[in-house]
Amino acid sequence: MEFLDLTAYAYSESALPMKAVGWLGSEYGVQGGDATPLTGAELQLLKSASLRVRSLMLGVHECEFCWAVEGNGEFRYYLPSGVIHAAPTMIVHYAEEHGYRPPFELLSGLPEAMRPPWDWRAERLCAVLRDESADFVWRADAAVDLALWDDRRAYDALRSVLNDEELVDLAGSEVGRSLAAFSGRAYASDLADGYLHPVVRSGIEKASQIDYRLCVRPVPPLRR
Ligand SMILES: [Zn+2]
Repeated sequence: MEFLDLTAYAYSESALPMKAVGWLGSEYGVQGGDATPLTGAELQLLKSASLRVRSLMLGVHECEFCWAVEGNGEFRYYLPSGVIHAAPTMIVHYAEEHGYRPPFELLSGLPEAMRPPWDWRAERLCAVLRDESADFVWRADAAVDLALWDDRRAYDALRSVLNDEELVDLAGSEVGRSLAAFSGRAYASDLADGYLHPVVRSGIEKASQIDYRLCVRPVPPLRR
């Protein structure tokens, strides 16, 4: 799937309006490829802001420039302007291996996107997460994204779904990973004591061991 940078995100329906970045393919080539490649510091910043993967079930995307790697899932960047950018996990590979330079509005907003201030986007994610009738993928993505906000309201929303059996069965480890982001906060000290579903517990325990690199991997030799 290929989209021009900064067009409205249209890969699937989403709970919040977003813009597409890094959806590269053979038709438009490496967008921004004639610009200066990222510096080492810029690349490191992009990687640091690209740790949690969403929407894993939406399909695998192969690199159309080297055909050596494929990835699935997406990153979301909550920029200080209020705009959200959605990128395939392959965005890091494109920047690292193919000279792709993401749009300036993404690069300049990345430091704040790692810890966005509380706003309507966080409120909306809390509401989606708590809504048992909402689309399951939206709820699972909200559970991932809420870990970005260093705010008790995000923690409370995550706590509130621990008895939601369907969500815990399907996305419990992501809920656990997000809860782990609040460890050290006084209001999160109850987490260590009470009963937690084993899937949630395992997500908390593995929180520091998982990252996006698991979602971008070599294409098996037989398919190349
Ligand atoms: Zn490639």
